[in-house]
Amino acid sequence: KVKNSGGNGYEFYNEAISKMIKEEEELDDAISKALEKEEFYLVYQPIVDITTSEIISNEALLRWDNESYGRLPIPVVIEFAERKGYIEDIGFWILKEACRQNKAWQDEGLGLTAISVNISVHQLEKPDFVDKVKIALELSNLAPEYLELEITETTAMENVNEKLATMLKLKRLGVKISIDDFGTGYSSLSYFTKFPIDTLKIDKSFVRDMLEDSNAMTIIDTIINMAKAMDVAITAEGVETLEHMEKLKIMGCDKIQGYYISKPQKAYVLEQMLKKLP
Ligand code: C2E
Ligand code: MG
Ligand code: MG
Ligand code: MG
Repeated sequence: KVKNSGGNGYEFYNEAISKMIKEEEELDDAISKALEKEEFYLVYQPIVDITTSEIISNEALLRWDNESYGRLPIPVVIEFAERKGYIEDIGFWILKEACRQNKAWQDEGLGLTAISVNISVHQLEKPDFVDKVKIALELSNLAPEYLELEITETTAMENVNEKLATMLKLKRLGVKISIDDFGTGYSSLSYFTKFPIDTLKIDKSFVRDMLEDSNAMTIIDTIINMAKAMDVAITAEGVETLEHMEKLKIMGCDKIQGYYISKPQKAYVLEQMLKKLP
């Protein structure tokens, strides 16, 4: 609160603001150098077939270990990078690195799994986004069917016609599309019949609550039934227990992802997991 009474409350306020500005500038400086200093890396979390437990895809998730910040929550880093205009470069690096890693696993004979990559709205809205996806595929030599782009429901619904056009181009390229955090955007479900999507990912908040909250259960049930009608696959995120998994199996969910299966892991750890599979 601003205080004009002449006490030191006002000074405190100014101090807090300038501290905030200074911190922003420092973070800006650190993020702007992070790519060059190779401080970013990806961790990978398996998405498995709910009936066979076979790994279908691995979701690449960004991590940043910085000497002065330690490990900041990644949504904070992404939001900041978006706001300051760094997300395009960082996002392009993520795409290239994820494709490269997945092709390396395939070449090592670790199975023909796909790689799922989260895409920011700022990337998707750039006119050259489809070209960048093409470049990432060409550089890595990864077949397009093994790349799955994750677009959040909120991202998809912003300038919906433009997004639809971009998604159609991506489909023509042969990549897969999933809608992430589905159910949190309160968008009209009918819109999603128009999108050329392969998978809907049920947001983890519904899975977290499903065993205690009948509303969450109803939402999951509705999403699964809609997906069946649309001929779209369903992934449930945030599956933490056997109970979650068993219930979701009965409800007709296709794929699951969550700590019950595996936490996101560094590449070499996941590699050891892949090697142990039959
Ligand atoms: P998301 O794409 O929905 O990713 C799932 C998040 O849930 C990840 O958090 C993952 O670590 C976490 N998670 C996985 N299983 C469980 C579970 O069983 N329980 C719980 N409680 N959480 C689980 P993370 O890595 O912190 O990422 C958070 C969000 O940040 C992502 O949500 C995504 O929106 C964004 N993000 C992460 N990496 C990238 C990236 O490379 N690019 C972009 N644009 N966004 C990214
Ligand atoms: Mg995701
Ligand atoms: Mg997300
Ligand atoms: Mg999600």
